[in-house]
Parts: sequence; structure tokens; C-alpha cells
Amino acid sequence: MLFDYTKQDAQGASCTAHAWAKVPAPLSPPQRDALKARAKALLAERQAVLVAHYYVDGDLQDLALETGGLVADSLEMARFGRDHAAQTLVVAGVRFMGESAKILSPHKRVLMPDLDATCSLDLGCPPEDFAAFCDAHPDRTVVVYANTSAAVKARADWMVTSSCALAIVGHLAAEGRKILWAPDRHLGRYIQEQTGADMLLWNGACIVHDEFKGLELDLLRAEHPGAKVLVHPESPQSVVAQADVVGSTTQLLDAVRTLDAPAFIVATDNGLMHRMRQLAPGKVLIEAPTAGSSATCKSCAHCPWMAMNALQGVVDCLEQGRGEIQVDEPVRSQALGCIERMLDFVKAHPAAVKTPGLVPRLGAA
Ligand code: SF4
Repeated sequence: MLFDYTKQDAQGASCTAHAWAKVPAPLSPPQRDALKARAKALLAERQAVLVAHYYVDGDLQDLALETGGLVADSLEMARFGRDHAAQTLVVAGVRFMGESAKILSPHKRVLMPDLDATCSLDLGCPPEDFAAFCDAHPDRTVVVYANTSAAVKARADWMVTSSCALAIVGHLAAEGRKILWAPDRHLGRYIQEQTGADMLLWNGACIVHDEFKGLELDLLRAEHPGAKVLVHPESPQSVVAQADVVGSTTQLLDAVRTLDAPAFIVATDNGLMHRMRQLAPGKVLIEAPTAGSSATCKSCAHCPWMAMNALQGVVDCLEQGRGEIQVDEPVRSQALGCIERMLDFVKAHPAAVKTPGLVPRLGAA
């Protein structure tokens, strides 16, 4: 069952051009070295820690790892930021990740390189409309993806990430609960198929994963018969159906490291390739096909909001104190419950996040 919600397309399209216009120009090697050195010094001076997502620029990922920070998926980012002793967190990613850090650590200062970095899933799920959706279905347990605003999380019973969504919804389904799910329709459909849960789906999508094409993937697989296909479940059904592994960014990374295959076709944001190349240097990595780049780069397997994160932004937020995340009460404490419920579940069921979906490829022998 799909809740028909169409504002997302118009909002996502208009905001994408704005986002690409804010992506900084590439740096020369000397510029990059100078900014990285300045960012390192500022992180140390301000006793701050950098928490970066796998989709951001490789320089930021390297900076995080070289300074005692973290590069991870949104589940690990939330846990790390909460548990780290630093009182200043610099979150390189998109806005909901900074909000989650602030919700979990209200007394810490949470800075972001660019506060305009958002997400089409968050934009496509306005809190007022989502509240009306929840009000219309009071019999359902509300489960939201991490990629939502604090105000949407404040209406939810559970938050999940792609690492733990199957385990948590499977657990709720086993208890006989009916689910109201938002906002990603592809991830919701995948969870519903895998768990058999009764799910009412919001009609949102990730503008990056929604663009992967099943037909072109089929042709690419024929060119690379020995390659394994790795797919993030925010992708359309025709792409997921061809996957050898369906999983979160961390689970796809683990698959590249551990599976005995010389090559991988990867259907997720190409920012993940940076860490994949570092952790599996001998493997051939091939981007899954999209419709291709265009004037606004709507379909290039890279998120414009993630691309807005840059070394200059890290320097500026630490030097000038700009880009600070605020989440007002009572929204913060109302949103805290669904995040803590997820973290408690994952702590009690550590195996839940370890295993990606291993699926038989349709038509395979
Ligand atoms: S890659 Fe997709 S889901 Fe991730 S932040 Fe960008 S738009 Fe949102």
C-alpha cells in the first residue's frame, strides 16, 4: 500500500540546482594540503572531532580518519558522536545527521560545513503532512528512516537506518504490529518484501538511488560476467532484483572486502568508492548505470548535498563558529525516543546489523 505524495519531485528538482551551485570547485594539490593542515590544527585547538559519512569528499574522509574521527554510515555516526568525549562535533554529511547528533548530545556543540546540505527524503516529508498521515492511521506503529527531520522523528515510534531496518521491522512484524513507514518508498518496499510486514508506505525517494536503471544494469552485467552486483536498498526494484548483495553502505563495504570476486558493480552514491578503494585495493569497482550526467547533473550517482561538504567548510565552521545545529525543545526530547529505541535494539541484537541481504539473482543458474 502506497501513500500518494507528489510534492517531493517538485521540491527535490528545484533544490538540486541550488545545491550543485554551492558545491565548491576542485582544489589544486597545494590548496588542498594547506586547507587540510589548517583543518587539522583547528580540530586539535578546539578539541573537536570530525564525523564524516561515506558519501562525502575523499579529502574529508581522510581528514576524519587522520585526526581520530570516524567515516561511517548514519547509524555509526550517531553512536560515535554520542559516545565520544569531544564537546564539539563536526558532522560532514547532511542536515539530518547533524540533527541526530544534537538530539543525542544536546550539551555538545554540533557544527556542519554547510547547513544547506539536506536530503530529498527529508525535503519530501514535511512534518505537518506527515503528522496528518500519522493521525489518519493511529493503529499503526510509526517507523521512520534516519533521513528525516527532527520534527518527523518526533512523531515516530522507531527510527531505523538501512543497517538495521530489516531486523527492527521484522521484530515488529513478529509482534503482530502494522507499520506506517516513511519516507523512502523503495526501501519500504524492499523491507516489506523481505519481512512480510503489513506496511503503509510514504512516497519519497532518494534522488541519487532512484536514478539507477535496471535495463542498463542488465546490459552492464553481460559485459562483466564475473562481477558481483552490490545494491543499496534505496534503489528501484528492477535494480535490487539483480543484486548479489543488498545492504547499507557499511554492509556493501564489507562485501567488497570479503567476497571472493575480482570485480563489483556498485549501485550507491559513488562517494563510497573512495573507502572501497582503500579497503580493497586489488578489486575492480564499476559504477552502476544511471541515465547519465546532464546540465544539472540530476543523474550522476552522486548526491549534491553530500558534495557541498568541503575542507573549506570544516575550516570555516571551526574558525567562525558558523553552521551550528540547533534542535529546539520539545521537538528534541520527543525525537530522542525513537533514536534511542533503535540504538537499544541494536545493542541488544548486535548481529542485526552485521548481515546484508544476500539475494539470489533473478534468472541466475
Ligand atoms: S544520497 Fe540520497 S538519501 Fe543520501 S543524503 Fe543524498 S538525497 Fe538523501
